[in-house]
Amino acid sequence: MVYLDYAATTPVDKRVLEVMLPYFSDSFGNPSSVHRYGQKAEAAVDSARETVAGVLNCQPGEIVFTSCGTESDNLALRGVSIGMRSKNNAKWLLTSKGEHPAVSKTAEQLEEHYGVQVEWLELDEYGQVSPEAVEKAICCETALVSVMYANNEIGTINPIAQIAEVCRKQGIPFHSDAVQAAAYLQVDVQALGIDLLSLGGHKFYGPKGVGALYVRKGTALIPPQTGGGQESALRAGTQNVPYIVGFAEALRLTAEEREQRILHVKPLRDQIIGTILEEVTDSLLTGHPISRLPQHASFVFKDVDGNLLLTLLDAAGFACSSGSACKTGNPEPSEVMKAIGLTRDWGLGSLRITLGSGTSPAHVDALLRELPKLVEKARKISRKQ
Ligand code: PLP
Repeated sequence: MVYLDYAATTPVDKRVLEVMLPYFSDSFGNPSSVHRYGQKAEAAVDSARETVAGVLNCQPGEIVFTSCGTESDNLALRGVSIGMRSKNNAKWLLTSKGEHPAVSKTAEQLEEHYGVQVEWLELDEYGQVSPEAVEKAICCETALVSVMYANNEIGTINPIAQIAEVCRKQGIPFHSDAVQAAAYLQVDVQALGIDLLSLGGHKFYGPKGVGALYVRKGTALIPPQTGGGQESALRAGTQNVPYIVGFAEALRLTAEEREQRILHVKPLRDQIIGTILEEVTDSLLTGHPISRLPQHASFVFKDVDGNLLLTLLDAAGFACSSGSACKTGNPEPSEVMKAIGLTRDWGLGSLRITLGSGTSPAHVDALLRELPKLVEKARKISRKQ
């Protein structure tokens, strides 16, 4: 079986696992305890926080450890919506039509039940949000702007620094979901000018179930989760020490090895894009051709059931992903496919191939031998249905 779904999740790096292990057994203390078991655990969390802050170029006290990227997004959106309402009665949340459900569903709920008003920014055909659109939509009643750094489905990278600049000029906090981006892109929050940044450990060879939110000092954030005073009282709950240690080590290694990792995946990714577009009729690249994640290839194939194609690929030994949510009997193109203007006959046939540390040229050659035939097979079956 060839794994080509690294945007869904990555295996834990062995070096990461090694540094985590002692904190499950010998060094099992609660970081809030006063005795030396606690002190040891607290030192591990402090050291992890410093490591993460080093990569993000911020103060350690600006890092909040969470349970996943989704929680980081929730903390940012909910916390700042409430915080800014208390501060100056701002009630608009400005976000885009390309966001992951961790942001979009949270925005929808804030609108339905918490009196927040949401404005959805359009995407262009490549899935990008323009700084000009943000500038037009932003106003003194905007509580938060949230635009993702890189899109999970189509790999498009947004002009985050320019969007941040627009927000900064208006004095409005800017959040970016960098859960996909952090594996390959710079996450220096000063250079980017971001106020809140979400990360999730399992996208860059760290463990699942741990994330972080960068919160710039002075940001109006009222935590939705209350309890003990952990994480500067912004995220109550006993810290998951081994996972936090693993998260920090995985992020450190990612920053250190970024260039090599890009050099490994990008030529293979380009080979996939070039071959598929040439060999498969009625195929399109989704997302931006240049401003895209280096491990990310995504396509749509006209008149193909994307879920059927995934099943055929799985049977042939390849684990890939798609962008259509399979609702029983009535599959729908994803919101992102709709937002980039694809009609149903194209949008249902999406395929995402994402590469990583275990991908070899032989894997890519094998995929490229099979994929054109499998698309045709899926097309024939889909047309009959
Ligand atoms: N945001 C984006 C862009 C993602 O791709 C994902 C996961 O796929 C998430 C948020 C959610 O992250 P987690 O799985 O850590 O909750």
